[in-house]
Amino acid sequence: MISSLTKRLEEEPARLAEARKKGQRVVGYFGPYVPEELILAAGMLPVHLAFGGEPEPASAGEDFLKPYSCAYARSCLGYRKLSINPYYSAVDAVCVAYTCDSMRRVQEYWAKYLGVPSFPLGVTQTHDRFRTKPQAIEYFKNELNLLRGQLEEFCGHEIKDKEIRQAIALCNQIREKLWTFFEYPLDGRSPIEWRDALQISYAGFLMNRADFAKELEKIDKDLRQRNSETLPYDARSRLMICGSTIGIGDHKVLDIIKQAGGNIVADNICTGAMFSRKRVNIFGIFGNTMDALAERYLYNFPCPFMTDLSTRLNRILKVARDYRVHGLIYYNLRYCDTWRADFKFIKDTLYQELSVPTLLIETEYSPDDTDEIRTKIETFIKHIEGQV
Ligand code: SF4
Repeated sequence: MISSLTKRLEEEPARLAEARKKGQRVVGYFGPYVPEELILAAGMLPVHLAFGGEPEPASAGEDFLKPYSCAYARSCLGYRKLSINPYYSAVDAVCVAYTCDSMRRVQEYWAKYLGVPSFPLGVTQTHDRFRTKPQAIEYFKNELNLLRGQLEEFCGHEIKDKEIRQAIALCNQIREKLWTFFEYPLDGRSPIEWRDALQISYAGFLMNRADFAKELEKIDKDLRQRNSETLPYDARSRLMICGSTIGIGDHKVLDIIKQAGGNIVADNICTGAMFSRKRVNIFGIFGNTMDALAERYLYNFPCPFMTDLSTRLNRILKVARDYRVHGLIYYNLRYCDTWRADFKFIKDTLYQELSVPTLLIETEYSPDDTDEIRTKIETFIKHIEGQV
């Protein structure tokens, strides 16, 4: 089903190199708060830099960040330093959302030590969905306008509203399709697993967005042709995964869950379904584009660096209820204090409200703890299957 997409993705580094030769610029970004619409509207190529799972770049990142920073944040620097990833090597500039202290430093180190123009994006500590603190959205709008100005200076021309509208339309189209893929596992006879949807979404972090939209159409057509009533019912334990960033290539825990007989059906991770959730309000296409972008990006699911704990808990409860999950895997990258601090609230709430148990996995990118994690996950799955 995704072979065409995989093949297309393999060609992407060469295409990026070709585009750069012709003078097009590549702008990387970190975090789910950077609107790639602005990069697209500037005529540049956006790349969502979200790789993880490899020990070497995480170690290389210790030249900048302390060893007891999360492995993902260290890798954000290590990949570029080691020149081992074509995407990190290809970018001419980066935009970094300040979503935790480590990411703030990532932005500063890219500028000062990796010699790459690096634009910061401040994000408020509340998403303020109910608009009780109007200063939150005003601050974020201002930050987006500053970012727009920096990108304009970098690309050497004005970013026109018309181009932003076109980029919004394309990104909305992509999100809409991706979201339907993440919704398939609501059904026990889904033609696509959550993990496939994640792989497809990851491809969209890297590929030319217009080409990606075409690939999504093909996959969508293929999925619609599959009659779910003829598919066997998936009797595996239904799991949700939530927690720290799971980067492209960070599959240790996901593989163990699969090998142990678990089936992830839903997530609450910033590189997962959240990324495609929520389209830019259609009125943004006709009204003030920057306001519409600010609302879409700020009013998405609040990350744990934000104070909106009750919204976060309600959202996780809703997903767990809708997807009828039997257990939650709480993936915590070691030293990710932002997610670790929420753990007890989430674990207790899920159990009290839905009798859904939670397993905490604290890990990093070394394979040394594989057996220990395997034992924990196997025991957890047996437990929720009522076998122990
Ligand atoms: S995983 Fe946690 S500590 Fe690491 S960059 Fe994300 S929020 Fe920050």
